Parts: sequence; structure tokens; C-alpha cells
Amino acid sequence: MHQTCLNCSTHYKGHFCNNCGQKETHRYTVAHVFHELVHVFTHADKGIFSFAWNIIKKPGIVALDLTEGRRKRYFNLFQYLLIIVGITTFLVTQTHLIERTLVTMNKGTGAAQSSELVKLQQSVAAFLQKYNNIFQLILIPLFAFFSWLFIGRGKKRNYAENIVLHAASSAQSNTLAIVTSLLMIVSTTDTHFVILSFVSLFVILYTFTISYRQFYQLSWIKSILFAIAVLACSYIIQTFTTAVSVVIYFLLNR
Ligand SMILES: [Zn+2]
Repeated sequence: MHQTCLNCSTHYKGHFCNNCGQKETHRYTVAHVFHELVHVFTHADKGIFSFAWNIIKKPGIVALDLTEGRRKRYFNLFQYLLIIVGITTFLVTQTHLIERTLVTMNKGTGAAQSSELVKLQQSVAAFLQKYNNIFQLILIPLFAFFSWLFIGRGKKRNYAENIVLHAASSAQSNTLAIVTSLLMIVSTTDTHFVILSFVSLFVILYTFTISYRQFYQLSWIKSILFAIAVLACSYIIQTFTTAVSVVIYFLLNR
């Protein structure tokens, strides 16, 4: 039977439009609306919650599926990433996480601080918090560059595919960061706080390692070593760029 697609007006045969892919549609019914709502939470594939679970368990497999064309089964990775980075940025801002980290670190080193330096540190922390989402997203192509350089080139994976891999890895660490930042809110002592800061670092190292292991089918040892190498190289560039952008920001906002 011939149909006309209600989404794009193409004439087609069968149950799906062969131009835009929309399924044949009928008017909404209460049962349909209810089904769609339940679907968001429960459906085994394509739902955001099952995607979150997949990205926690196997970011490298998700990235591999996406690069090899198995895409329809998943919620959109980049859409998920924007949502999750938005949530963590909200948490980081609301809990003054970076400011608190700085204060705790200063106490730990016992360095005598002039009030000027403390003030500068606080405004830098506020700056980093405010633009946390942008920093999180800028880091992805940077990490991807080094993973392409160190592993991807030899394995015939291009730069864009490494961006997808690190988008999945970043989606994983940001999902896990929701848990750690909630723990940081309830942590009352500095010791808890320092422990959690270390945990956060290990979470990132872990997400890189598991991503490389799953995506490139490497041994644990190789995955960890590449993870450390990529993080170290990116950290050097990141520190330099952050310093420069902080200076520019304050020169512009004087
Ligand atoms: Zn259509």
C-alpha cells in the first residue's frame, strides 16, 4: 500500500518512509502517549538511561559500534555529552567545587598566602567553574589528537574516530562525576575531600584506560600506559592554554 510520509511528504511503500525514515504514524491516543513516556525510561535500547548505563560500562565498545556504523541502536552520543556536561557544570558551580579544592590544597601545603594571591586564586577558580562546560568540551579534541598520534595512526583509525572515542570517554567520566561531586557535597572533612579529588583523577585515568582497551583491543598494561601518556601530554598543553586564557580574560575584564 502506498503512503504519504507525514514528516516529509514523500510517497513510499511499507512501514517506514524511505526518505526520512519516520515510521507510519497515526493520531496520538492516550495509550500511545503513555507508551512514549514509559519508553523513555524503560526501553532496552535508544533510551537515555540505558545509554548512560552502556557508557558507564563500555565507552570503548559504544565508540567502536558508532565508528563501525552500528548507530541506530544508540541514543545520540553528542547529545548525551552536552546534557551530562551541563549537569556536571551545574553541580560544580552550585557546590563551588573548584574553589573548595583550591582552599583545601592551600591548607594542605600550609603555604602562607598573601590576601592578594588568595583573591587572584579565587577569581581564577570562579572563572574555571563558570566555563567548566567549555573546558570539558575543548579537551576532547586535544585528548583525541594524542590518542590518534600514539595509537590511532598505527591502527588505521582517523582523528575524527578518536574524537568519537574521547567523546564517549568524556561522557563516561562526566556521568561518574555526578556521583563524586554529590559525595563531595556531603563530605564534611578536608580528608574526605582530598580523597575524593584523587578519586576524580583516577576516574579520568580509568575512563581512558577502559576506552583504549575496548576500542583498540589492547592489553591492560598498554592501555594504562597510553592513558598516562595522553593525559600527561594533554595536561602540559592544557595548563599552558589555561594560563594564557586566564591572563587574556583578566586583561579584558580589568
Ligand atoms: Zn519522510
